[in-house]
Amino acid sequence: MSRRGLLIILSSPSGAGKSTLAKRLRAWDNTIRFSVSATTREPRLGEVDGQDYHFIDEAAFKRMVADREMLEHAHVFGNFYGSPLGPVQEAIEQGCDVLFDIDWQGAQQIKNSVLGQSVMSVFILPPSIVELRRRLVGRGQDDEAVIAKRMRKSWDEISRWSEYDYVLVNDDLEKTDERLKTIIEATRMARVQQPDLQDHARALQQEFEESQ
Ligand code: ADP
Ligand code: 5GP
Repeated sequence: MSRRGLLIILSSPSGAGKSTLAKRLRAWDNTIRFSVSATTREPRLGEVDGQDYHFIDEAAFKRMVADREMLEHAHVFGNFYGSPLGPVQEAIEQGCDVLFDIDWQGAQQIKNSVLGQSVMSVFILPPSIVELRRRLVGRGQDDEAVIAKRMRKSWDEISRWSEYDYVLVNDDLEKTDERLKTIIEATRMARVQQPDLQDHARALQQEFEESQ
């Protein structure tokens, strides 16, 4: 039986662990496609263009928005970010799930889009603010000024937790990873994700009547 692809949205304040969890999900099930966002921010050390992000300039970004090539887009930490629509449509048509690492603004826009009924949104909370800062520092990717900026923004993001379908407190990474996979497996079985159920039920009914 075929199933409709899910749009799995992961959001969290920066440093709570969503990239780590996203990487694990992709290793767990390589049919899950990762939505590679376009951004105007500079690449960080080790980031690969086309893999982590499509690094583009502001003019190109604005052109994509004007041409309706973005499923959603937002301004975050002084830069533009957006999810290109084409690869998402392609994945959904092939029955593949798509994973988004995007903020609450993007999550809202996708939920309100024509693809909204296939959205499964998950918010990752840190166990504490002290731990959130420790993880940002420990990640070693940003200088003090950027970390301070991310920490100042973190409450804006955290305050959106109640807009999500599922909320996980990422204390123990193994447990959070396991819970996330369980949620995905369950949501894949939701009635609306299985368009062939109607036909299957009809076939069962016919078989039942013929057997009487
Ligand atoms: P985000 O993508 O949300 O900004 P990352 O996935 O980059 O966050 O995680 C930030 C840092 O915290 C990374 O160094 C990561 O290895 C670490 N981390 C993630 N989850 C946990 C956890 N449950 N316990 C301890 N460290 C974690
Ligand atoms: P970073 O610069 O740390 O990679 O990402 C900063 C924030 O932007 C994160 O909260 C991340 O989830 C969000 N983000 C990344 N890509 C997109 C996107 O395409 N759309 C939206 N709305 N947010 C994004």
